[in-house]
Order: sequence, then C-alpha cells, then structure tokens
Amino acid sequence: MRLTDEQRSRFLIRILEEKGVGYRPGQLGWQKVSCYGMGHARGDLNPSASINIGKGSYKCFGCDLAGDAVDLVMQETGLDFQGALVRMGIEKGQVVEEPTWL
Ligand SMILES: [Zn+2]
Repeated sequence: MRLTDEQRSRFLIRILEEKGVGYRPGQLGWQKVSCYGMGHARGDLNPSASINIGKGSYKCFGCDLAGDAVDLVMQETGLDFQGALVRMGIEKGQVVEEPTWL
C-alpha cells in the first residue's frame, strides 16, 4: 500500500511535533529544519535537513535519514515496512488507532 499525500503530510507533521523540530507550518515547498536523527546526538545547530510538508517528504544532508513518515519510522526503529505501519496504527491504508509510536 501507499500512503495518500494527505496521510504522508499528516504523519510527517506528527513526527516533527513529537521530535520538537521547529518548522513553518504555512510554508509550501521545501524548507530547512534541524535534523532529529541519531547522527545529530549533539543537536543540529546548522540545519541539515529539508522538509516538504505538502509532499510529506524529509531529507537530511548530514545523515541518511530521508523519505516519508514510514521510511523515517523504519530507519529509526529498524522495523520493516509492515512493522512500521503497525507501529503507526495503519492497517490496509486506514488509520485504525491513535498512533503510540515514537
Ligand atoms: Zn540528519
């Protein structure tokens, strides 16, 4: 299954908010943010990542963290695709429960 653009956007925002990543909600297109990835254990004062809220996409140029929300959960947890969907409360393309992940 693939997430819809709306789901990709919503889940990315959820991750950003859980991780305390500062971003500009109203900005369409790509914007620079500080990466929350484990490769930035001391913080990322010179923002290394770019996000696109509309597309639900994340790309860090300082570590390998990149992709949509499912990719980010997979990379952070080591879960496979299906495991990440379960963690995110997604079943057959529907969000079936309030996510308890991250
Ligand atoms: Zn990074």
